[in-house]
Amino acid sequence: MLARAMVRHCPWCGHGKLFPRWFRPVRRCPRCGLVVERGEGAMLGSMSINLGVTMVVLIAYLVVWLGIDMPDVQMAKALGSAIAVGIAVPILFFPFAKLIWAAIDIMFHGYDPNYVDPDEARRLKRGQ
Ligand SMILES: [Zn+2]
Repeated sequence: MLARAMVRHCPWCGHGKLFPRWFRPVRRCPRCGLVVERGEGAMLGSMSINLGVTMVVLIAYLVVWLGIDMPDVQMAKALGSAIAVGIAVPILFFPFAKLIWAAIDIMFHGYDPNYVDPDEARRLKRGQ
């Protein structure tokens, strides 16, 4: 499941079109019905994954930069490029983090095809 999520495919069935837009997933997988974002608080898990990956990449980037640039470190260039990396990585990793979190969620809670997330339940109640 994690391997599927890491290539932006549905963790449950492997379907590949869950993100028609980079920041906007489909509500449910068109093939298996998996809810990509499970209610309120689900985004906290993917944000944590995204933050962790960004920190690891940023630290690795700075270690490599310092290794190459020692002993005369150009701090302005190092900080400027580190800021760019710190902005780019979470944007690029966003859909992967969402699906990795969905895979972890399935591992802990299992897959229920009849699961209705609270937002969807409210909409259904209102008749939308
Ligand atoms: Zn699926």
